Amino acid sequence: MKSRFPLLDEPLALDLVNTRIRRDGTEVDLLDSPVALLAWLRAERGRLAWSGAIDAADLATVRALRDAIDRLLRARRGHVRPARADVDRVNHALASGPALAQLGWRATGPVLKPLPAPARRCMLLRTLASDALTLLTGPCADQVRECAHPDCRLQFVARNPRRQWCSDQLCGNRARVAKHYRRHHQAI
Ligand SMILES: [Zn+2]
Repeated sequence: MKSRFPLLDEPLALDLVNTRIRRDGTEVDLLDSPVALLAWLRAERGRLAWSGAIDAADLATVRALRDAIDRLLRARRGHVRPARADVDRVNHALASGPALAQLGWRATGPVLKPLPAPARRCMLLRTLASDALTLLTGPCADQVRECAHPDCRLQFVARNPRRQWCSDQLCGNRARVAKHYRRHHQAI
């Protein structure tokens, strides 16, 4: 298995939503434990600063935000009104948290002080929600698509309008293999 997370270079909010996948007709939640969330945060460390542990409450809040963002993206694509609670959840995350970072001063000079746990949690949620806000209302909003493979639910920004698969290696290949198989078996 290449990576636990199949699609990681989309906007942050999409990467988050894409931690819920579909395989063989079953939905699988890749964020199924605090350790799994920690692994995701580590995979995103270039864009998300996180240090410290993750507890069950962190996992629950991140998952709740993720599922709300997922429903909002689908509502936007389907041109339907989302549930008020989902909008509220994103806004709550946007409003949360005092400082993004704190300045400390040691004998050696200025240091970036690690945030206390509650502030860290708020910052994580705010970063994710703020990315979702950009995604839902920004210039890429109309390009957010779901993979065309029926056995996949990954979403991506189709910067190339012809892009239909989450990844050519993954679903593009699955589709080609299926097509080849059908053709071969029809020929017999
Ligand atoms: Zn796919």
